[in-house]
Amino acid sequence: MIIRMKKNATQKQIEAVLNFFSSKGCTYKDASSADVSLYGIIGDTKSIMESDVYAFEAVDKITRIQEPYKKASKTLHPEPTIIDVSGVKIGGGTFTIMAGPCSVESKEQLFNIADAVKQSGAKILRGGAYKPRTSPYAFQGLGEVGLDILAAAKKEYHLPIVTEIYSAELIPLFLEKGVDIFQVGARNMQNYDLLKALGKIRKPVMLKRGMDATIEEWLLAAEYILAGGNEQVILCERGIKTFDRYTRNCLDIQAVLAIKQLSHLPIIVDPSHASGRYDMIEDLAKAALVVGADGIIVEVHNHPECALSDGAQSLKPEKFDHMVKELEKLAPLCGKTL
Ligand code: PEP
Ligand code: MN
Repeated sequence: MIIRMKKNATQKQIEAVLNFFSSKGCTYKDASSADVSLYGIIGDTKSIMESDVYAFEAVDKITRIQEPYKKASKTLHPEPTIIDVSGVKIGGGTFTIMAGPCSVESKEQLFNIADAVKQSGAKILRGGAYKPRTSPYAFQGLGEVGLDILAAAKKEYHLPIVTEIYSAELIPLFLEKGVDIFQVGARNMQNYDLLKALGKIRKPVMLKRGMDATIEEWLLAAEYILAGGNEQVILCERGIKTFDRYTRNCLDIQAVLAIKQLSHLPIIVDPSHASGRYDMIEDLAKAALVVGADGIIVEVHNHPECALSDGAQSLKPEKFDHMVKELEKLAPLCGKTL
């Protein structure tokens, strides 16, 4: 952290700032010249908030040199993290496809879709059992019954399962039912109680980006899980809000590049929630592969017209199959295997 003091700051005011850093276990280097009063703070400043330091009268400008997140950062962990999800690798040279319905609606529905996506090449089965919906009147998911159907499909089709958790209280139930990836939805990216609780388990967590979250806020949310000792964090870019209403959200494809520059954590792209449109999914999935994402999560429904949630952004199994074939052709050009 570098601090520039105000031109008219008194020696006493400057000392107050330097004493504050000493009390936090930091030292400093005086880099002042005739024109500018500049101090480099040496030590671990990750717990010091800039907003607190601006409270000192002498402080003019603060520049952070290190990222506020340590464990999510590439600085001390340059090699990419590869996460083993019950035998399926996420990260490194693979492009992992997760697919399934938005919501688990019935055993017949999930088994039908699981069978189709498995045959096409999906490696992980998705399906929401607990659905945090924007409207309290919309379908809220089957809850525990949905988890049981997911567990049965996992057994029948030998596919690990990913499903959303929105409350720390549900963790024991999710563990008992054998959930392989605990998905934190966009609406809960900053649910710190949940993130802390997920830091205590030793299961992969897929952290979706909040719809208005900056990259730094997202990585700091990941840091909550990592700081608890759970190192199995997968990031998921699912589109952010912009001014345009033609699509549901806007896929921030460059976020994949930013994450690859800043972090060692794997990143998955969700073209379904990003676009909200089934007719954009295949091309957005290709874009994800080209920019270096570690995989995609895609909604698939056997009867999208009758889906209880997100039918308009769900691929029919035939379209999903077509997409996977296209990705298989493209993958070698991107240095990835499916
Ligand atoms: C989902 O994946 O079903 C979901 C609700 O996504 P998001 O949290 O990104 O809206
Ligand atoms: Mn959905």
